[in-house]
Amino acid sequence: MDEHVLLETSMHKVLTRRQALIAAGTFLGGFALGACSRSSARQARALQYTVQSGDTLSQLSRRSGLSISEIIKANRLRSNSLEVGQRLSFPGVKELGPDPLLAAKKQLHSYNIITRNEWGALPMKSNHDPMAAITRITVHHTHEIPGMMHRNDREIVKAIARYHRNTLQWADIGYHYLIGRDGYVYEGRPVTAQGAHARGINNLNNLGIAVIGDFNDHLPEEKQLNALKSFLADMQKTYSVANNRVYGHYQFVNTACPGKALKGWLQDYVKGVHS
Ligand SMILES: [Zn+2]
Repeated sequence: MDEHVLLETSMHKVLTRRQALIAAGTFLGGFALGACSRSSARQARALQYTVQSGDTLSQLSRRSGLSISEIIKANRLRSNSLEVGQRLSFPGVKELGPDPLLAAKKQLHSYNIITRNEWGALPMKSNHDPMAAITRITVHHTHEIPGMMHRNDREIVKAIARYHRNTLQWADIGYHYLIGRDGYVYEGRPVTAQGAHARGINNLNNLGIAVIGDFNDHLPEEKQLNALKSFLADMQKTYSVANNRVYGHYQFVNTACPGKALKGWLQDYVKGVHS
């Protein structure tokens, strides 16, 4: 392959052949120009790949088995950032496998936790009971919070915590976890403490998860719903809670919570429809 063309594509500007050779030499720390013939022989067996959105050098290194510097060298790259549509060749590589790191992460869960510290929770007050063994899980929606829904999830979690602590005089935010529209899972009341979300004795042994938003007319967006689904499954595994012990708030008190649409989804979930 002609270095001129390669550099022209990767740099998005035209260099003279002489400038290109100097640039390549500088970047590769004096990479011998004589190696070109060997490199084109190797490129005959090289896998050609078009860079997709989200690709990174380290990902492509894991997927191809080549080191990052081998990829840089084989493609005479001048920077570590890749452009969508850029052509890369992988000498001696037959095919790109899935990224093992990404596959491992996916298997673990498809959400990230925002800790109490990270969203700025205040220490829990003393007026709470300790949580006995968790044997059931209850799903809520937060419903409309007037004038709040345009704020980000972190602000909403803080506002709910303020309302529960200051207005209702509870020890802390009532739910153990909140699922954000951003797909993050926010830690609420520590799981070592009994929650305040299902009224009275219904809170015993009951992990409370609230999905941020109003889900009477529509389901959460995909990101939020996926986070809920995968977090629920993880919590069920962690505390050995079977599907028939996963509830909607409406099963304890007269309420529409977690909203008509999400209630339907939850009913399917416990039947195993979504798994
Ligand atoms: Zn509820």
